[in-house]
Amino acid sequence: MDGQSKSRSELQAIQKIRKHSAEFNAQELLNGLLQGNTTELAQAITLSESQKPDDMQAASELLEQALPHTGRALRVGITGVPGVGKSTFIDAFGSYITAIGKKVAVLAIDPTSQISHGSILGDKTRMEKLSMDKNAFIRPSPSALSLGGVARKTREAIILCEAAGFDVILVETVGVGQSETAVHAMTDFFLLLMLSGAGDQLQGIKRGIMEMCDGMLITKADGDNLKKANYAKAEYGSALHLFPARSDNWTTGVEVCSAVEGTGIQEAWKMIESYETWMKERNLFLRKRHDQDIAWMHDTIKSHLQESFYRMPKVRELMSEQEQMIRENKTTPFKAAELLLKEAKINS
Ligand code: GDP
Repeated sequence: MDGQSKSRSELQAIQKIRKHSAEFNAQELLNGLLQGNTTELAQAITLSESQKPDDMQAASELLEQALPHTGRALRVGITGVPGVGKSTFIDAFGSYITAIGKKVAVLAIDPTSQISHGSILGDKTRMEKLSMDKNAFIRPSPSALSLGGVARKTREAIILCEAAGFDVILVETVGVGQSETAVHAMTDFFLLLMLSGAGDQLQGIKRGIMEMCDGMLITKADGDNLKKANYAKAEYGSALHLFPARSDNWTTGVEVCSAVEGTGIQEAWKMIESYETWMKERNLFLRKRHDQDIAWMHDTIKSHLQESFYRMPKVRELMSEQEQMIRENKTTPFKAAELLLKEAKINS
């Protein structure tokens, strides 16, 4: 979109953004972003990750402006234990997506990124081919202390990538802990990558994650491993049948793939496309997104309430005193919480 075709309200909002941000020229960011410029996209994501109050204000207005330009991309979550082959798969899968004429963005949710400095997931060096592809954009996990914080930033990055014209957003996460739930809550299709392994098929990953996924891929189906992979496909296929029926009536498919040999990549894409069609034909696609948006609103409210509560001077003053009283058995957790909430004028 060029400057002339912007509405008055858009221009006013851009001026507001400019006033707020000292370091970033948010107007240029928005313009560049809407033209699909990845430099501006990367800067906009950095702005949204900033903890500085001025930047936060600018970022939230930038996001507000970006929102009307979003919603057209397909959001795919990808999970699996470390070593399952996520980055190798995403490198091949992302390249397939660009080869069929679409633009792909790869984001990551890694709650440990503070410790690993974002090197575990979404790292360009792990996706050699895709990182050279001009129709691909790769962004490592934001660093934040809490999973909630990382998830929030990733949601915002999805919005910014969509406004920048990316057709498919892949959100990678590691198959341990709670991060899968966060990715599941912000994507249209949730893909679980699984290793084949004699005898231990059902042990590596929690049942809840298997129930959550919309599709499963057995990785490294090549060489000596091909037979085992096909066996695992049959095993998981029957295991999935034992789960309760889903509310969308979709039957989770299982495929095998080899990212190294490039087999099963197209089938993975077909599986995702079939699910999209299935959901759209039943008017469930947008319903699911709206449900996710409502949950996003509640998350935002909760995190704001929490942040403002813990920032209150009176609360900060009394907090360590109450903690000490709990240690000395001079109060109970409930009484302490009640007192602090009362101080914050929140009646429990
Ligand atoms: P991640 O930790 O889940 O991202 O896994 P990686 O993509 O880093 O892969 C872990 C290991 O498995 C690496 O040594 C890869 O070379 C190997 N690998 C990944 N995909 C395949 C595959 O399709 N076939 C074979 N044989 N090895 C693979």
